[in-house]
Amino acid sequence: MTPLNDRKLLNIIRYAPAVFITLFAVVVNVILIQSNRIESEEKIEFIRENLIEQQKQVIQDQIKQIADQIDRQKSQTEKTLQKQIYDRVYEAHKIASNIYERNRNKPTEEVMKMITEALRPIRFNHGRGYFFIYDSNGINVMHSLFPQLEGHSVWNTKDVRGTLIVQEHIARMQAAGGEAFYRWWYSKPDVDAKEQFEKIGFGKLFEPYGWYVGTGDYIVDVESDIKMQVVEWLQFFRYGDNDYVFIIDEEGTIVSHPEPSMVNTHVSDELGSQLAEIRAKKDGDRSGFTHYMAKYMPGAPNGGEKISYLKMIDGWDWTIGTGFYVQRFEAYLADNVSALEESNRAELKRVVLASLVSTLIIIALSLKLGRAIGDRFNRFQERIGKDFNELKQIKDKLKYLAEHDSLTDLPNRLLLNGIIHSGIDYAHHNRCFGAVMLLDVDDFKKINDLYGHSAGDKLLKTVSRKFESILGPHDTVSRFGGDEFIFCFPDLSDDRAAREKVLAIQRVFEDKFIIDGKVLTTNCSIGVAMFPSDDTDPEALIRKADVVLYKSKAHHKGSAMFYSNDVNEEIQLDYMIEEELRKALKEEEIKVLYQPQIDVQSGKNIGVEALARWNSKRLGPISPIKFIAAAEDIGVIHELGYFVFRKACEDILSISPNGHDAMGVSINISPKQLMEPSFPETLLEVTQKIGIDISRVTLEITENVLLEDLNMVAERLNSMKAYGFGLSLDDFGTGYSSLSYLNTLPITEIKIDRSFTDKILVSEQTRTLVKAIIAIGSSCKMTVVAEGVETMEQFNALSEHGCDVVQGYYFAPPLTIESISEIFCSSLQSGSESN
Ligand code: C2E
Ligand code: CA
Ligand code: CA
Repeated sequence: MTPLNDRKLLNIIRYAPAVFITLFAVVVNVILIQSNRIESEEKIEFIRENLIEQQKQVIQDQIKQIADQIDRQKSQTEKTLQKQIYDRVYEAHKIASNIYERNRNKPTEEVMKMITEALRPIRFNHGRGYFFIYDSNGINVMHSLFPQLEGHSVWNTKDVRGTLIVQEHIARMQAAGGEAFYRWWYSKPDVDAKEQFEKIGFGKLFEPYGWYVGTGDYIVDVESDIKMQVVEWLQFFRYGDNDYVFIIDEEGTIVSHPEPSMVNTHVSDELGSQLAEIRAKKDGDRSGFTHYMAKYMPGAPNGGEKISYLKMIDGWDWTIGTGFYVQRFEAYLADNVSALEESNRAELKRVVLASLVSTLIIIALSLKLGRAIGDRFNRFQERIGKDFNELKQIKDKLKYLAEHDSLTDLPNRLLLNGIIHSGIDYAHHNRCFGAVMLLDVDDFKKINDLYGHSAGDKLLKTVSRKFESILGPHDTVSRFGGDEFIFCFPDLSDDRAAREKVLAIQRVFEDKFIIDGKVLTTNCSIGVAMFPSDDTDPEALIRKADVVLYKSKAHHKGSAMFYSNDVNEEIQLDYMIEEELRKALKEEEIKVLYQPQIDVQSGKNIGVEALARWNSKRLGPISPIKFIAAAEDIGVIHELGYFVFRKACEDILSISPNGHDAMGVSINISPKQLMEPSFPETLLEVTQKIGIDISRVTLEITENVLLEDLNMVAERLNSMKAYGFGLSLDDFGTGYSSLSYLNTLPITEIKIDRSFTDKILVSEQTRTLVKAIIAIGSSCKMTVVAEGVETMEQFNALSEHGCDVVQGYYFAPPLTIESISEIFCSSLQSGSESN
């Protein structure tokens, strides 16, 4: 995946909301359309069910109405019948009354005959109706249908239900005041005589003869009349959309149907079985819906699917029904559905349009908002970028300040490691050599002391610019600290090239520096470490350069030294010396030898210089130059110095008691010892403790000591002078301003350096100088001692110039106190002998 950069993020902020809204709108619209479809399907289903229900309700209502109608007609049957027979009997009664009234005068028998004969032929109700007459004894007077019964008693005749037909009828009529309806069962004239049908009758008393005139009719016949009427009615009955009603009988035969060919045919098995179910219902309304393939359907020769409502007519074994053709209904429904769908589509269109419009508006708004946020973001980004740039500049500046020296503007220690590192890489890739040169400005402290710190700073600035002027394209110079600089030359062909670089640096110091109108001269010491030969680690290279610089300075200021294994070994030895030195002091390995000092005038051994010796068990004999320097470095010089001082005083006192001819002793004092504030007092204490006369003790100090704090040194020297110590300026002439010290310091003795003694015979200049020194010494009332006298000629020359005291191998090397004692005693003896 590609990383999410600001550009992309910005685009996301700008356009993502619009995309999300679009997606959301699409989803919402899809859901809308989907739900609209489902809703419309549900609606259609609902409509279908509703329509079917409605239609079912219509046919059910229709059937109920018709059933009610039939029921009403049925209930009318008896009333109709009763009315008919009532009217008939009253007619017959009227006829009989008329005949009786009109024939009062005729004999009863005859009138009776006239009446019976008048009533006998009368028929009504499609010929089924007739009259009969009984007397009160149950004797049949007249019977139109069965005349054979006339004259016979029917008193005990029973119908199929065991009813005494005539008896009961007469009893009812008598009870009801002469007339009554009556029911019984009776055979039909045209049907098998065994079968009896329910009849209803009416009888009325004809009082003149005590006759009961009556008639009756079969209920079933009346019913079938009504049925006929119903069939005829329903045959042509239509409702709704030319819908019709059909009648099926008990056997499943169609009784009434608008299509004549269907009448008397049997219904399908499917409908038959559904019909049987309805008929089988036990209680209540025996009715229900059926759903079947109808044999008949107008305009469809093979019939069609139909839903009908069937209802049984109680007591008639008739089932009436009506229904609707599903196919026709579906066509109607289809019309409805398409109208519904049309309206749904229109509604959907409206909704989708509204949602689209609102979506577009929201998208436009979100785009605008996204753009605004994006722009804001952009502005922030620009501002952040600007701030960041400023910050970076400040950071760079701070980094530059941190990595560069504020005074010289050169890279400082922080940058140095990196510089040397890249130098090493450069040399490695270009197959050449490199050098790290550590430079120390000689006596810089002195310059600071003499001319002030601002002059020192200006000097450093000036040399820095000069250093830069000698650099090659790949070279660098950095300020390492104080008056120390480090050069890195990564582009050297060989050692000679390195030496040339050293010379180039040294040439910088050949010129005089003019600072604040003053002319300064100075020099430098250089330590060089080469890469890759000496090391390939920047820090190690600096350390090695430092080591050789230190070494070179110790050896000779103003020189350059290359790191080498020999130097390294020497340095290792130095370390070992330092290590062993501490033990040596404790284990008393340090001894003191004494070199005699001879008075030139008398030739007498008037004193000795105490010189420390160390024969190390581990390292063998070590030069005092080395171990004294080591002792100074590691700080044991005080211990060592006091030891030598005490030992020398004790030794000398032991062989030469205080007194007029007592032997003097010169003891070397390291400049470091002078740094100790209580030094003069301690020396005083030691001498007092030992008991040696202070005037016998001379302290030798070198000129180097004066390079330190001159005032402090002068103060210490004054105290020591005051206590009575002699003060000798050792190695006189090797330093810069030996002469100037003679006036300012309380010196009692000058010790001409061995290098002058060495050259006194070969160099006229030296001879002149020695002569001058001796002259100055005598003029200042100082003893002049020459050291390193190795030959008689040297001695003679010195003696000639008026040197006071001499010291050197010509007379004696440094000796043990025992040897000194012997020499001293013999000299004393020879002195006393000569006396
Ligand atoms: P220095 O004070 O200049 O001591 C004189 C050195 O010259 C001694 O070397 C001595 O042995 C040597 N010498 C004497 N006569 C001759 C001669 O005729 N020819 C030659 N070539 N050399 C001669 P040494 O003992 O090796 O001492 C060297 C330096 O060590 C001394 O130089 C002194 O500065 C220092 N030193 C020695 N002992 C002590 C000490 O106890 N304390 C201190 N602070 N420095 C000491
Ligand atoms: Ca000395
Ligand atoms: Ca000396």
